[in-house]
Amino acid sequence: MQQTRILIIGAGGQLGSELAAGLRQVYGIDQVVTADIKNVQGNLQEGPFEMFDVLNKEKLTDVIRKHRITQIYHLAAVLSATGEQEPERAWKINMDSLTNVLEVARTLKIEKVYWPSSIAVFGKDTPKEHTPQSTVMSPSTVYGISKLAGELWCAYYFTRFGVDVRSLRYPGLIGYKTPPGGGTTDYAVEIFHKALQEKKYQCYLSEHTTLPMMYMADAVRATIELMEAPSEKIKIRTGYNISALSLSPSILAKNICIHIPEFKISYCPDFRDEIAINWPHSIDDESARKDWGWQHKYGVEAMTADMIKNLRLIYPNN
Ligand code: NAD
Repeated sequence: MQQTRILIIGAGGQLGSELAAGLRQVYGIDQVVTADIKNVQGNLQEGPFEMFDVLNKEKLTDVIRKHRITQIYHLAAVLSATGEQEPERAWKINMDSLTNVLEVARTLKIEKVYWPSSIAVFGKDTPKEHTPQSTVMSPSTVYGISKLAGELWCAYYFTRFGVDVRSLRYPGLIGYKTPPGGGTTDYAVEIFHKALQEKKYQCYLSEHTTLPMMYMADAVRATIELMEAPSEKIKIRTGYNISALSLSPSILAKNICIHIPEFKISYCPDFRDEIAINWPHSIDDESARKDWGWQHKYGVEAMTADMIKNLRLIYPNN
């Protein structure tokens, strides 16, 4: 059997930098090639890296051949908040890049492809509580529309061409290592940095806007577990619902106050609140739990404590 060699596209981002570290622990530094349109920072520089635009299909093909890649994790995307500022660019990057990756995977017979979806596939007509795996979708952002179309594109490549492509509908991801990249849930990371540095935070979502979230350690583990599951266990080829915790800014602020009592939050909702109110409050991830054994580890209290413990190492005087 061929040795696993992984390419992570968009590895310099919030998820990619942590997923790269997780995959390098499992497969070894040299077996995981990171790629991004810009240079990567920190620990990521230790292993093989390629700088290119994933819209360039020829370069993508060259990189895959050069490193004898067997699995692709395609993470590069324009996220929800940024996408609303530049819808045409968001559609082009999100859809054309996925088409390039799926086509190259088909022609070069790549063993497995991972492509992340999002809770943004749901919309205002979707049931908000315990949103089912299969339900009304109706996304209203260019990002959500591209993720829904992308899910169907992945399922098409699996059914029509046998490309083993797998996907998770991530909720908002919270981590301390890398800054978020222009999503609607970015506040849930920024709030921790501001709480430690300034003891106050002005939130762009309303006090009670509740969204599903996940701690980065859980998201990385979910991704690796999904990709390592035997193909016959992957019964859903669009995107799996996965969930861990649900948060509003006021609940998160209360949890932060347990560790930083002087912390104060204020609210100045902007266009991102309009995006967030159309998204689910909580997610039913029964299929992921049943099909490939997904179990989250971090709830709100454990996530908050771990974020603050680790960020205190970055801001030692706070
Ligand atoms: P991010 O914006 O932090 O990172 C994306 C990376 O892709 C960046 O480093 C960027 O330079 C790179 N990139 C952009 N265009 C590129 C191109 N044309 N060629 C090569 N690289 C390019 O995003 P993230 O938060 O790490 O998200 C990663 C994936 O997970 C995305 O597909 C996103 O939709 C999905 N997702 C993220 C979240 C979240 O909360 N972070 C939630 C749901 C889904």
